[in-house]
Parts: sequence; structure tokens; C-alpha cells
Amino acid sequence: MARAERLFPGGVNSPVRAFRPVGGTPRVIERAQGARMWDADGNELIDYIGSWGPMILGHAHPEVVAAVGRAAEKGTSFGAPNALEVGLGEAIVAAMPSIERLRFVNSGTEAAMSALRVARGFTGREKVIKLAGGYHGHADALLVRAGSSASGIAQPTSAGVTPATAADTLVAPYNDLRSVANLLSAHPRQVAAVIVEPVAANMGVVKPAKGYLEGLRDLTSADGTLLVFDEVITGFRLGRGGAQERYGVRPDLTVLGKIIGGGLPVGAYGGRADVMSKVAPDGPVYQAGTLSGNPLAMAAGLATLRRLTPELYGRLEEYGAVLEAGLKDAAHEADVEVQVVRVASLLTVFFDDDARFARFFRAMLERGVLLPPSQQEAWFLSAAHGDAELRSTLVAARAAFRESVNA
Ligand code: PMP
Repeated sequence: MARAERLFPGGVNSPVRAFRPVGGTPRVIERAQGARMWDADGNELIDYIGSWGPMILGHAHPEVVAAVGRAAEKGTSFGAPNALEVGLGEAIVAAMPSIERLRFVNSGTEAAMSALRVARGFTGREKVIKLAGGYHGHADALLVRAGSSASGIAQPTSAGVTPATAADTLVAPYNDLRSVANLLSAHPRQVAAVIVEPVAANMGVVKPAKGYLEGLRDLTSADGTLLVFDEVITGFRLGRGGAQERYGVRPDLTVLGKIIGGGLPVGAYGGRADVMSKVAPDGPVYQAGTLSGNPLAMAAGLATLRRLTPELYGRLEEYGAVLEAGLKDAAHEADVEVQVVRVASLLTVFFDDDARFARFFRAMLERGVLLPPSQQEAWFLSAAHGDAELRSTLVAARAAFRESVNA
């Protein structure tokens, strides 16, 4: 880490890895297998980060590793069409009927940014609405928060984002349909898209209120605004069809990443054929990528998707339910006030106080359980988490909840 800190801002290549919200030094990971990782000091860790979502089968799944190996032997990048991208594209379209055509990119950030460009190109409108607390990667237009006035006009959350860029993004609170309705009527036929995490998973896990997603569908349809579901986390995690299948709402565009690349760099955006036909070279919206549709990423994604059966989702649900109940019991026994929220294999333990979460996190880590080092981030369960991991996690949690209250 000392060498890393000389090289990289914060010693890391993505900020949350730096452990700033919880203190201490990040673990340098040497290898991972199943539900476990091993750090460079030889410590074994039960992993609930799951690379922030892709590793739904667990780490180094033999079929994924073999698929990547077979692909690599044939060449690591062609910059030309290949059969693997067609295979993965067809698997995605089959699982998510709202996606008629799609384009692969290399990250969720790129996918969200490109989906908004297409929405603007298709509608000829300039503004977009995002929901407060939603994260859609680090494109300029999306690094914003609600401004101080009721106008919904956003302020940058990052230095380097211009007020002019932020001014085209409007922000409404999550789970509040009336705010979205007000913004749409204040800017009639000017909003190209509403982009939403259908289950919010970047402010802890927050479920959509009953009728919320349906309400967004109705409001956007009535105004000719495109509804964009960011399913970078929820896609193939809440079930093969993601949140749109679970809640029965059909978006115009969908943003994907994480699981569809099986742990290799990937993203995708897609949806209605008439909208996607605006993308170059069929249409006037430019978007391109040297490594897009990369054969290793496509092979890892295909091997992963092949394994995602109803039986596997059933096991994830079962593990999640027992873990959720066990954590609630453990918190209750220790007399600690927390919100435990779970949707399928996404889970949050939210403390009213960040310092208390930090103590909980460190107490878990001392006992060999690695949680996301921020309570804004979801715990990601994998199919490799089993009885042994469950027992160890709950034993650790009973002690960690007790320690979380001792300042
Ligand atoms: N959308 C959502 C919902 C995400 O959670 C993330 C990343 N965690 C992104 C987009 C951005 O994806 P990436 O980090 O691959 O750019």
C-alpha cells in the first residue's frame, strides 16, 4: 500500500476501496475463490463486496475461468465482430424483453452516459431527470445532487463538473412521484429521460415504494420522455430479468454492467429498436469503443449467465433471508438500532451513525469478514456463500454489534 499510495490518488483506482469511511488500511488482495479472498498478509476473508456486484457465482468459478482461457487462446481483442458478442447479446435480449437491440461498452459509467446521449438524440430534448441518491457512474451530467431551490436544477457533486452541464440535469427525491410530475410539468416536453436505479443500491439498499416504478412509467409515457432503468446492479441479480421483470415495468432503455461481464470490464445499453436505431452507424448518435464486445469479457459473461438458473436464485434468496434474520437478531440482542434491508441477494445494515458503522466494519474485519467499507454500498451475496460462511458471519456479527456501541 505504501508503494500504491505514491502512485495512485488515495492509493487506489476507485475511491471507495481506500477505506476512508471506516479508517484503517485497505487489504491488498492476492487471490479469491468462491466466497473467500486472501490478502497479501495471508489472511482469509469471507467476502461480501463481490467486486461490487459482478461475482454472483463467487470468485474464480471454474467454468468462467475456463471460458476466459479458451477465449484468450484465440486472441484477446479483434476490433471486429465476433460470435461471442452475438451470443451474449442474444442471452441478454432473451432475459430482458424490453431490450430489442443493444450495444456493448466497457463499464456501467459508459453505458449510462451513452444511454442518455441516445435518449437526447432520439427525443431532441436536452434535460434529464435523475433521482437523489442514485448513482449511475461518473459521467459529468450525472455527478450532481439536488440544488437548494425547488426548481430541481442540480449542483455538481464533483469539482470539474461545470454548472452548465449540471443545469441540464434535474434532481428529484427517490420514491416521490409528485416531485417528478412537478419537474415534468415545469419543463414540458423538454426532458429526454428519467434515469433511475429501480432498486436503489448506492445509498444503502432502498426498495421502490409500491407503485413508484409504475408511476414513473406513466408519467414519462405521458410526456414522451424515455424511462431509463439503470440495472447495472440489479440486472441478472434480482433474477435473470432484473428489476424490470420483478416489478413488471418495461423501460424504454436499460443500462447494464457488472454480472453480464462475469468479472471482466463490461457495460451495455439497449432497449427499444426505434431508439437504438439512432446509434451510429445506423443513426446520428455517435458512440464507439476500441475494446467494446471484448471476447474475454463476452466469454466470462456468457459462462456466468449460463449458470443463472431459477434454482441458483432460489439458493441466493434462502441465504439472504437467513442472513437477514440472523443479523436482525444479533443487532437486537446487542441492543443496537439498525435498519436491515434486503432485496434478493443485495443487503444493507444501516446504522444511524457512520462512526458506529465504522466500528462494526472493523470488528467484522478482525474476525475475517470483509464488508463494503461504506454503509452506502450494498453487501453482495454470491452462490458460493454457504452454511460455513453463514455461521462464521453471524458469530462475527454478534460480537461486532456489541463492539459497535463501545466508542
Ligand atoms: N450504475 C450503477 C447503479 C452502479 O452501481 C454503478 C457502479 N457501482 C455504475 C452505474 C457505474 O458502473 P461502473 O463502475 O462499471 O462504471
